[in-house]
Amino acid sequence: MAKNVLIVDDSATMRKIIMRGIRQAGIENADFKEAGDGVEGMKAVEGGKFDLILSDVNMPNMNGLDFVKAVKEKLGTPPPIVMITTEGSEEVVKEAMTRGAKGYLKKPFTPEKIQEVIGPFLK
Ligand SMILES: [Mg+2]
Repeated sequence: MAKNVLIVDDSATMRKIIMRGIRQAGIENADFKEAGDGVEGMKAVEGGKFDLILSDVNMPNMNGLDFVKAVKEKLGTPPPIVMITTEGSEEVVKEAMTRGAKGYLKKPFTPEKIQEVIGPFLK
């Protein structure tokens, strides 16, 4: 069955790379919806149901940390949220996990790493 995946990232290129990476990881049951920042992400969350949310950290309007918090406040029991991070952001990752994120994926990522981190949520 198709899984609904929300990708929140202010870079359209990065969103494409993530979608391609997921396909390359052999995950073919994902239907994607894209959002350009936390505000757009919240609109998507309010308007649909998702099995997994992937979120960037640094974004305008509402960053990834505030987005995780807002989703949790809105939904109570939100779908799993996996952060897309850059090297050297351990503190940010820790904070995101404290706020309810379920995992993180470091850029640049390989299909193997994507399968390892994201695969279990899309079974
Ligand atoms: Mg960004």
